Amino acid sequence: MAEKIVKSKEEWRKQLTPEQFHITREKGTEPAFTGEYEHFKGDGTYRCVNCGNPLFDSDTKYESGSGWPSFWAPISEDAVETAKDTSYGMLRTEVLCKKCAAHLGHLFEDGPRPTGMRFCINSAALQFADEKDSEPESGEES
Ligand code: FE
Repeated sequence: MAEKIVKSKEEWRKQLTPEQFHITREKGTEPAFTGEYEHFKGDGTYRCVNCGNPLFDSDTKYESGSGWPSFWAPISEDAVETAKDTSYGMLRTEVLCKKCAAHLGHLFEDGPRPTGMRFCINSAALQFADEKDSEPESGEES
């Protein structure tokens, strides 16, 4: 497992837009049907907007109708981790970047084959890259 990235909230705030910061560092959710990647069909890799960690391959993206970009599998074992989320009176599974702990979205078990999983991810937590390379970028641009 690659090393973790740990930064203070203020450091993250400086390098992110207010929307990106709220969603990834304060566990926010973008309104359904508004994100830039909901219907996006580019061929490439979706990376963490916080740290550049490769998260999802475009080959696993599908139209879930939920209003958020949806994937049926992460790109690798190093991409994401999950946690129990009991906020808003619901029991859900939170999806976080495994490298920097950015909040990405939630995981549901009503996805398509072959996994049956639905990674329901905020567009604002993602940065699409037009290549299949799975090597992490530095993530230091701001
Ligand atoms: Fe990250």
